[in-house]
Amino acid sequence: MIEKENFLFNNLKDIKGIGNKISSKFLKKRIIKIYELLLALPYSSTDRSNLKKLNNIEIGKICTITIRVDKYNFPRIRNLPFTIKCSDEFGKIDLVFFNSREGYIRKKLPLRKWVVVSGKINYFNKNYQIVNPEYIEDIKDLGKVNKEIPKYSLPDGLSEKIYIKIIEKILTNLPKVKEWHNKEILSKLGLPGWYESICFLHKKYKQDNINSKFYRRLVFDEIVSNLIVLSKNRKIIKKIKKKPKLFTLVNQKKIIKNINFRLTEGQNNIIYEINNDLKNDKKMFRILQGDVGSGKTIIALIAASNVIENNFQCAFMAPTEILAKQHYDFAKNILANLNIKIALLTSKVDNKEKRQIFNDVEKGKIDFVIGTHSIFQKKVNFKNLGFIIIDEQHKFGVNQRMSLSQKGGDNCDVLLMSATPIPRTMMLSVYGDMDISRLTEKPFGRKEILTFSKPENKIEEIYDLIKKEISKNQQVFWICPLIKKSNILEDTSVNDRYKKLNLIFPKKVGLLHGEIPVDEKNSVLNKFLNKELSILVSTTVIEVGINFPNANLIIIDSANKFGLAQLHQLRGRVGRGDKQGKCILLFKKSLSKNAIKRIKILKKSNDGFFIAEEDMNLRGFGDMMGYQQSGLKYYRYADPVLHKDIFDIANSYIKEIEEKEINLENFHFLLKLFDKAEITNIE
Ligand code: ADP
Ligand code: MG
Repeated sequence: MIEKENFLFNNLKDIKGIGNKISSKFLKKRIIKIYELLLALPYSSTDRSNLKKLNNIEIGKICTITIRVDKYNFPRIRNLPFTIKCSDEFGKIDLVFFNSREGYIRKKLPLRKWVVVSGKINYFNKNYQIVNPEYIEDIKDLGKVNKEIPKYSLPDGLSEKIYIKIIEKILTNLPKVKEWHNKEILSKLGLPGWYESICFLHKKYKQDNINSKFYRRLVFDEIVSNLIVLSKNRKIIKKIKKKPKLFTLVNQKKIIKNINFRLTEGQNNIIYEINNDLKNDKKMFRILQGDVGSGKTIIALIAASNVIENNFQCAFMAPTEILAKQHYDFAKNILANLNIKIALLTSKVDNKEKRQIFNDVEKGKIDFVIGTHSIFQKKVNFKNLGFIIIDEQHKFGVNQRMSLSQKGGDNCDVLLMSATPIPRTMMLSVYGDMDISRLTEKPFGRKEILTFSKPENKIEEIYDLIKKEISKNQQVFWICPLIKKSNILEDTSVNDRYKKLNLIFPKKVGLLHGEIPVDEKNSVLNKFLNKELSILVSTTVIEVGINFPNANLIIIDSANKFGLAQLHQLRGRVGRGDKQGKCILLFKKSLSKNAIKRIKILKKSNDGFFIAEEDMNLRGFGDMMGYQQSGLKYYRYADPVLHKDIFDIANSYIKEIEEKEINLENFHFLLKLFDKAEITNIE
């Protein structure tokens, strides 16, 4: 059994008949092991059951024919194709071969023999022909060709025929592995065994396979394997014992006095939750999820102040310099009378000052370091680090999060913050290794952003609106989807838009996109923050977290190019102060039905979590731009929209596995299939 089970985890090269030549072709598709090939399912199929006589064939269609080889034509001039004349009782056809060898043809197509040939029928020079037919078989093998044949994404230079032969060989050797799930869960979902499923999906391609019980079995396996890893990691982290933090909330109370707003109930609840984690003897590893502008920063700062009360140091990492500087300024402001020493550490800080910071951090003279990833350089040695906060980073994979959880040593609590709303179905399978806090409420008095749509021919109205805003010393964002004008898409590029606006509002417009060097980018952003510029034309590079309290109008160009969730994130950049925020979605032409639906949702709701769910339902998870960019789309088979029920059941199944302490060894084979065995160390 073991021997056979291991078969799948051997190299492709170990299969008889696969040598360096073929395996190197697979290597280019990053397929090395046998199971990696097996898990690549056919994406379509070719119907070769269309058996025809030559008076009945259809041009442009794939046909399977039985024909007699009549005559060879092997031209002696290079680059001319070989032509083999063939016929049946009803007509004639030419088989045309480019880049072939004479010996091969004579062997495959012996003169006067009947053969089975399958390929696409062309008509050329008044003759039917098939160019480089995919299948040429002995007449006795008609049954092998005359059927639905699965279509795979082939490596360069490998024929479908050889590919399928290899798959068939693998299927013949496939181990009938012991079931790893319990029977109840399988029957609840109506799922067949793994062996049966994988065989079916290779042998019988159907359009709606994705909804078949066989495909759903693989989906379930995939989700569960992922949940097992997260659950196991969570268990490991939960075992870490730390020195509980002791504090009296004296700092917290002072901060609450310092701020000129009242914390929402949601904020208070999460602060309470985090404080409990800090006081606990188990290491905290928590993610705080909250929509843009929901007020996560203050929560992090209050928690930090409590940790500092207990003489631990804190580190707060932001993804960019500007964001770090904003957090630093905000922290300085609200921690002003608290006797907390704060330092800003980014790559921009000059060397002398940096050395001083390193020194002070090491001696414990600095309590709180706010900065970019610079704060995790080797040179930074904290004397007594007790709390790490990481802002706006949703790009950490499972492995990175695992090493993050260990950062700072056992005594160090970790809080991640993210504004990417994850649909509820996905929560566990994305963040199952962490404790989750969701901040769903917006601060009091925050006005809902008004959202309008406008066709491009009414752009003058927008210019008028901008003029009005500027005359009131307000600022404006203008977001575009692309950098360069592409030939295919007609989207307005940032450059074009910048030029046009610059003519209308000279010296008031700044330009920002991914190809602008960092220094220049920072200088433009700073000019905008200092109100030297009134309008910022930008692609989506502009960070989620930056606060521009003075910008209350955002125009989103070619709004149909963005996903709902992304549009919501973009509009969240305005209306962060007490003024009314406005968002204008600019469209080229008349709107599609789907676009109208999406605008309705945006107009109706300002709730990022709700919008994420709607976006997912409308476009499917795979399509969600924001998610793909954030690296959250890591499922091969599972689709949270199509397979929502499986996600839900898998979520409760993993809890059962945890509660009953089911031995993860049972899932060894499954975890290996999904490259997870090493992560969980059950090798
Ligand atoms: P995000 O959750 O996107 O990081 P921020 O923490 O940047 O949001 O908060 C956005 C703005 O709202 C900041 O100016 C912040 O000071 C302010 N803010 C936070 N909490 C409240 C509140 N309870 N009432 C009013 N304003 C608040
Ligand atoms: Mg933020």
